[in-house]
Amino acid sequence: MTTSHYIAGRWVEGLGSDCITVNDPSLGQPFAELMAASVAQVDQAVAAAREALPAWKQVSASARARYLRGFADQLGQRREALIALQMRNNGKPRHEAEIDLDDAVATFVYYADLAEQLPQKNCDVPLAAPGFTARTRLEPVGVVGLIVPWNFPLVTSAWKLAPALAAGCTVVLKPSEVTPLIEQAYGQIAETLGLPAGVLNIVNGKAETGAALSSHSGLDKLSFTGSNSVGSQVMRSAAAQCRPVTLELGGKSAIVVFDDCDVDQAVEWIVAGFTWNAGQMCSATSRLLVQEGIADALLPRLQQALEQLRVGNPSSAEVDMGPLTSQAQWLKVASYFATAREEGLRCLAGGKALDREGWFVSPTLYTDVPVDSRLWTEEIFGPVLCARRFSTEAQAIAEANDSRFGLVATVCSADLERAERVADALEVGHVWINSVQAVFVETSWGGNKGSGIGRGLGPWGLSGYLSVKHVTRCLG
Ligand code: NAD
Repeated sequence: MTTSHYIAGRWVEGLGSDCITVNDPSLGQPFAELMAASVAQVDQAVAAAREALPAWKQVSASARARYLRGFADQLGQRREALIALQMRNNGKPRHEAEIDLDDAVATFVYYADLAEQLPQKNCDVPLAAPGFTARTRLEPVGVVGLIVPWNFPLVTSAWKLAPALAAGCTVVLKPSEVTPLIEQAYGQIAETLGLPAGVLNIVNGKAETGAALSSHSGLDKLSFTGSNSVGSQVMRSAAAQCRPVTLELGGKSAIVVFDDCDVDQAVEWIVAGFTWNAGQMCSATSRLLVQEGIADALLPRLQQALEQLRVGNPSSAEVDMGPLTSQAQWLKVASYFATAREEGLRCLAGGKALDREGWFVSPTLYTDVPVDSRLWTEEIFGPVLCARRFSTEAQAIAEANDSRFGLVATVCSADLERAERVADALEVGHVWINSVQAVFVETSWGGNKGSGIGRGLGPWGLSGYLSVKHVTRCLG
């Protein structure tokens, strides 16, 4: 691919020094290459967004909403191609790729609706003091840099693009170098819809391109989703310029199963919570806390379910779980298998890379994992579950909360009063009760503690791209 960057309404050739190789993880083989954007091209993209901002701010909220509905329609028209590309480049099973596409569409529709309601939020403010009037104005934050990872490229970018454009911001998006083709659809759609040049820019590249964007003095805000190590560098750049940053980072989330659960149902929730997208989810519920009364019945059933999971190439067969998306991720997960062996952990299922082409690993279960094990405390980002038993509700809450992360949790219990009580006590941004990984665009997304700063989705996602202004007038 030669023209893979969308800057100021034009597709341009990458002039950076990095060559990006795009792989099919099911085969472990490349199928496309592109040149990264240069630092000068990042400058051009930010300059284009800056130039487009005054006019885009003046476009009415209802007209911005029409563009967002256009994005939703156009994603629908590209449905098959985008599903196929996610299956090939991410290794997602078809049903997962379909859900990602549907989530992206729903996100654009939702923020179109919210954009239409924005003018009513500009309103008079009643004042206790006589002699003054005041009114509220919600204004776009300005030029925003958006940096995203590779695990849900279509969705994560939609979660940032849709509210940013709805708010009246102009943006520079940097997709992950692991999946640089999927978000090109957003540039193609912008072109098809006649979105004004510079409102949406896309620069592809690796760390150098990301760093050039996150440290750019021409941004008003940066929104980052990715790892904690890069997140802290991004935060340092934001601190150096004293400007806002939203961070959606990693997790090591708990699933708490009480002994009043139906065993088969609980097994289904547990498996989905750490094998969806081959476990490459910030929200993977990869720490299982199972109550003593049900553990002996549940763990063998869980082992059996994992052994029956169909792992394979999404293009050739009915599969439940595909490969890991990159070789680097595959090597990282394999290194945790080695650590587990060194630590002497008890492995009930998996624990190895599969001996075949592509970057496959077995869904893995370790039991009675000590709380100081690296596998219990660190984000692995693969289909690896660590289990521990608990006796009391208080113990479950304490162990679930004993983490530097605080993204999500799942609580499984037939006693709904207890489930709600435990949900309230968990130090995370989102809790599922008797369900797993169900993310709705109306609810918030983001975490506490080391899982990030700020919230995406829902009205909170839009607020992240709006700034509040008050105009106070003296009547005297
Ligand atoms: P990553 O941090 O390696 O990369 C994320 C993005 O940052 C990529 O586009 C990358 O090119 C860019 N980047 C790399 N170095 C940079 C630098 N120095 N400056 C600026 N940008 C830079 O993460 P990843 O491996 O792509 O994704 C996996 C991580 O993302 C996991 O930790 C996962 O938990 C997290 N994640 C979090 C959420 C959430 O909503 N909380 C969602 C998805 C993924």
